[in-house]
Amino acid sequence: MTHLRLSTAVRGIDAQKVLDAMLEHLREHDLAAVPGEGAWDIDYSGARISLSAKPDSLHAHVAAPTQEALYDAKMLVFYHIVEFSSCDPEAIQWQGDSIQLARPPAFRLLTVEAVSDVGPHMRRVRFRTEELARYHQDEDIHCKLIFPQPGVRDPEWPTLAPNGTPQFPSGDKRLDIRTYTIRRIDAVQGWMDVDFVLHDDAGPGAAWAAQAASGQQIGLSGPGGRTAQPADWMLLAGDETALPAIARIGETLPSETQGIALIEVQTPADQVELRLPPGMRLRWLHRGTAAAGTASLLKDAIQACAIPDGPDRYVWVGAEFATAQSVRAWLRDTVGLSGKEQLVVAYWRYGMDETQMKSGATRRAAGGAAEKASS
Ligand SMILES: Cc1cc2nc3c(=O)[nH]c(=O)nc-3n(C[C@H](O)[C@H](O)[C@H](O)COP(=O)(O)OP(=O)(O)OC[C@H]3O[C@@H](n4cnc5c(N)ncnc54)[C@H](O)[C@@H]3O)c2cc1C
Repeated sequence: MTHLRLSTAVRGIDAQKVLDAMLEHLREHDLAAVPGEGAWDIDYSGARISLSAKPDSLHAHVAAPTQEALYDAKMLVFYHIVEFSSCDPEAIQWQGDSIQLARPPAFRLLTVEAVSDVGPHMRRVRFRTEELARYHQDEDIHCKLIFPQPGVRDPEWPTLAPNGTPQFPSGDKRLDIRTYTIRRIDAVQGWMDVDFVLHDDAGPGAAWAAQAASGQQIGLSGPGGRTAQPADWMLLAGDETALPAIARIGETLPSETQGIALIEVQTPADQVELRLPPGMRLRWLHRGTAAAGTASLLKDAIQACAIPDGPDRYVWVGAEFATAQSVRAWLRDTVGLSGKEQLVVAYWRYGMDETQMKSGATRRAAGGAAEKASS
């Protein structure tokens, strides 16, 4: 098979230190490097990445059968070198085959086909698009949805800068990006469902879902993020934002799986039908009049669980930031779960939008709440 190739040599950084950090980080994300010919080799979505440290430079070679795979592998290397060396992105110059793509290869334009209410606070949107194959898998079930500003009739979608980084429009045409779970997907038929929580203080995601109508278009990128690893005994827990993920994970578990699912919702009317293995107990927790993100009932229920000593157990939790933090610490320090036995993800953060959550700044400190309330 013909392979397209690219390589770069990045100078002025501590090459060995950066390489060690990259390899460790990629290993944590299930991308294990194996020793090759004078380099560490990584298979990534059909591409082969080879990394090596020389006394004065870090070398990366990428080979892939398609432009898309070459681009994805190149950008994986690019972002990780920048992240772990803090170098100027311009220091990373590539030689080899050129990449001729108008848009990031993951980008898809989604068209709303149908909108329905799963419950009083959850709206399902079915989207249509072409070439969904890269999204149709049970390992990476999360995606980024890209929302134009309300009222913009001819949105500008992301393009690629000469160095390959995606470029987004600014000003009135700026795009908002939010993380969601692909609840159901059929790449052959060309559709996917996303379940949106219609929460208070709606940001671009919830606000868009509240007015979604057939024929509207938003963007899609991804997929990404890790998910639960099947085990003999499993605890799946989360609030309503994690309900789509718990539903999808539960449907794919082997029928002999034992365990429990704990799901926090507002009221009994927010409960949905779930297809879990018969040996998994399902318990709904009702927050009632308490605001989302302010009740401790999910954390308390998780900590009241009798997690077996092992050997084959796994805990997956998707919840508000503070709950996720305390549950993660409890699982590690009190239960003694290893990193391979748990995945606890902050799905959102009370008082911050997603961008602020990721950058760690508080919306209140930045005066963002007042800004949003007045907009
Ligand atoms: C991997 C992953 C998968 C996810 N999957 C889904 C999914 O399938 N469906 C889904 O609905 N969400 C999902 N989420 C959560 C979703 O990304 C966040 O809720 C996100 O903040 C919603 O964006 P927004 O534009 O509506 O609000 P933002 O602009 O991000 O936030 C605006 C305000 O709303 C608050 N807020 C955000 N979420 C909630 C909430 N649930 N309840 C109350 N207040 C909230 C924020 O604290 C902030 O004050 C997922 C998150 C992750 C990390």
